[in-house]
Amino acid sequence: MKGYIGEARKNAGKREAAVLLVLAVIGLVFIFGSWHANKIKATTLEEKHYTEKIQKEKYDPKLKGASKQNDKEKKVTSKVSSKRVSEKQKKTKEKAADAVPVHKKTATGQNQAKTVYLTFDDGPSRVSNGIMDVLKKYQVKATFFMLEPNMLQFQDQVKRMNREGHSLGLHGVSHDAKKIYRSKKTVVREMDQANQALQKITGKRTALIRTPYGSAPYMKPDYQKAVKDKGYELWDWTIDSMDWSYRSPQYVKNSISQLKKMEHRTEPIVILMHERKETLENLPQLLDYLKKNGYTMKRIEKNMKPVTFRVSKAAS
Ligand SMILES: [Zn+2]
Repeated sequence: MKGYIGEARKNAGKREAAVLLVLAVIGLVFIFGSWHANKIKATTLEEKHYTEKIQKEKYDPKLKGASKQNDKEKKVTSKVSSKRVSEKQKKTKEKAADAVPVHKKTATGQNQAKTVYLTFDDGPSRVSNGIMDVLKKYQVKATFFMLEPNMLQFQDQVKRMNREGHSLGLHGVSHDAKKIYRSKKTVVREMDQANQALQKITGKRTALIRTPYGSAPYMKPDYQKAVKDKGYELWDWTIDSMDWSYRSPQYVKNSISQLKKMEHRTEPIVILMHERKETLENLPQLLDYLKKNGYTMKRIEKNMKPVTFRVSKAAS
């Protein structure tokens, strides 16, 4: 710049003045220009801010939609990913809370380890194999309380029950209240006779018995003592499916409605059924329900404390 002005001074004074004027104009233009540019910049920032504000508002409903979609995934994905999305955290938490009961239901169902004991009376019969086929399909074991004449008639079925790991129980001989309950001796005698048949067929004896129509009112205290002294374990039931009465799918509904009332009881849940055609036909329905609702189905074991009506009444 210095050299340039010095060179100008060598020229005419008019020319020097003209150059200075040009420089002044350039300077003014520069100053004005930068001021204007700043103004534009300021406006742009304002506009940008405003635009962002609008966009945010527009984006909000999208956020809602997104969190809904995420919610489905949240049920599966870990908590870590939800922490990352800090903006959506609150909403996510609310949604996650909605999902919790579903998990809770499953968790408590599993923790309670709900067990049901399926029992079939009055067999064996023509439907024994069908019942065992269903039990096999569902991979569950059950308990059969059998009558002596039927065991002798359907020996292969008794053998199969034994082979496939079901529990074998006795139900007497006559199934006639007037005969079996004539005295404590007649009760014991019928059970012993049935046990002999079982031993003849399977080589095994059993301690499990269920007397016809259950222990009440026929099995008076001295009757109960008599079978106990003989080493028998007398079992009643907690749920009467009433399959013998309904002879229809209604017995499944009946059993389920009783089962729902027993969810918080601690004693074993024993379902009474009979070896009937209609019972077999609707058995998968009952087993489906039990499986879906977290119930485990087991056979009655010798070392278990038997469920009897007297115990049930005292407990409830
Ligand atoms: Zn019976």
